[in-house]
Amino acid sequence: AAVIHWFKRDLRLHDNRSLHLAAQKAREGNIPLICVFLISPQDYEAHLTSPARVDFEFRSLAILRQGLAALDIPLHISTVEIRKNVPARLVEFATQVSAHHIFTNLEYEPDELRREDKLVRLCLDHGIAFDAVHDDCIVPPTTLSTRQGKQYSVYTPWFRAWVAHLHSHPDLLAASPPPPQNPPSTRRELASLFDADIPAVPENKTLSPEMKKRSEHLWPAGEHAALERLQRFLSEKVKAYKDRRNFPAENGTACLSVHHSAGTLAARTSVRMAREANSTSKLDGGGEGLKGWIGEVAWRDFYKHVLVNWPYVCMNKPFKYEYTNIEWEYNDEHFKAWCEGRTGYPFVDAAMRQLLHTGYMHNRCRMLVASFLSKHLLLDWRLGEQYFMLHLIDGDFASNNGGWGFSSSTGVDPQPYFRIFNPLLQSEKFDPEGEYIRKWVPELRDVVGKVVHDPFGRGDEEIVARVEGRGYPRMVVEHRWARERCLKRYKAGIGRE
Ligand code: FAD
Repeated sequence: AAVIHWFKRDLRLHDNRSLHLAAQKAREGNIPLICVFLISPQDYEAHLTSPARVDFEFRSLAILRQGLAALDIPLHISTVEIRKNVPARLVEFATQVSAHHIFTNLEYEPDELRREDKLVRLCLDHGIAFDAVHDDCIVPPTTLSTRQGKQYSVYTPWFRAWVAHLHSHPDLLAASPPPPQNPPSTRRELASLFDADIPAVPENKTLSPEMKKRSEHLWPAGEHAALERLQRFLSEKVKAYKDRRNFPAENGTACLSVHHSAGTLAARTSVRMAREANSTSKLDGGGEGLKGWIGEVAWRDFYKHVLVNWPYVCMNKPFKYEYTNIEWEYNDEHFKAWCEGRTGYPFVDAAMRQLLHTGYMHNRCRMLVASFLSKHLLLDWRLGEQYFMLHLIDGDFASNNGGWGFSSSTGVDPQPYFRIFNPLLQSEKFDPEGEYIRKWVPELRDVVGKVVHDPFGRGDEEIVARVEGRGYPRMVVEHRWARERCLKRYKAGIGRE
């Protein structure tokens, strides 16, 4: 007999609810805990998972496997080519190793819920117990509702309720200990599971060797790297978070989203440790930096709450369905210019190139480039949402969809549609010295002073000639014209004209 924990987006030993429950069950019966991870290439395709993200996942898996092996817990990893066969493969494996109980953490997207639904029935047929538990969100989705019993669709009151709930349910922030050592006979009895190789990364998800090397350097994988980064952020940077978080050149944020998204770090661990570093146990009190940072981690919970309550956001529909009728432009050249960071707006271009080079983009820039695509270029925000997933190392459906909805004004609790960022003012405000631009746009590296924000508009003849000679493009659309076009089209789309 044995108990199984099925790993998905929770690649860690510490503070993992399902893993802990599975380990407890195994211990009660003095039987081994066996862990499983199933690679589903079709899921990578369906979810537009980026190669950078898959690489990060595989690197984290290798580390996880070592950590488990030190506890004599095997991690069986195999590839399931046809995604609908995942439940059957899991049950087949459980039968093979005589496991009578499977534990896993819940994922909330409709495809994943359907898969789990199928698994429940299959397990029943095979006499296997199946438990899927809440872990990914700090407050489980559907817990919070308004006094009228409705779901929150605005962040601020939701956040107040979130804080109050956690103050009255401190157990939700408690850590789950890592699993204990398996019985000594496990190594011998399950030797083939310990010895098996990790399958190869699906071919169309492999990174170029150059990008892989860069990614390994920028984004060390696994839970120890995550905890180290969290501790460093909390001891060195969080105090100044409120003042520095909006300046992409300053490196003032935690850069933990990749860990939250792959589950090498629980959002719960982040909030608990931030609270421990604070001068108060109140989640909405104490240091401005800590308070603000906890509020950002809460956005992640908020967008999952939205996904669970309004699952149609997963089906290519905007949260605000009255925004379905906006007439978008279909301009491949503009889309290509945006993707490649060649719009002629240096701040926008720097951000898009950061994404291509590192798999990451600063939050301030994500908001700006998303607004630029949907409002200045008037291109369907879903194109940008998909492009982000295909390139982000921290790609997460709910946060990405929420961020795109916010910036394009079509989502939950969005910017009003008439709030249109001026990319040149954003540039001057959030990259005042032009450091971020010079770092990512080499054509502008030696353009000094404020001219860097708008080399063609502000530069003298010599600068214009130099920048043009290097192939840096002129603006693809003029700001004021684009703004007017956007206002008109949005108004008409939502039936206000
Ligand atoms: P910090 O500022 O240090 O924040 C701490 C943590 O809080 C982050 O690690 C993240 O888990 C969470 N967080 C912060 N801001 C947000 C937010 N606005 N929404 C949800 N969670 C947040 N985040 C993703 O994790 N995956 C995505 O695919 C993603 N796509 C986005 C797309 C757009 C258009 C926008 C505007 C935002 C998107 N975000 C996404 C949110 C945010 O940009 C990143 O989480 C953040 O930049 C990560 O950097 P950090 O870890 O240094 O954040």
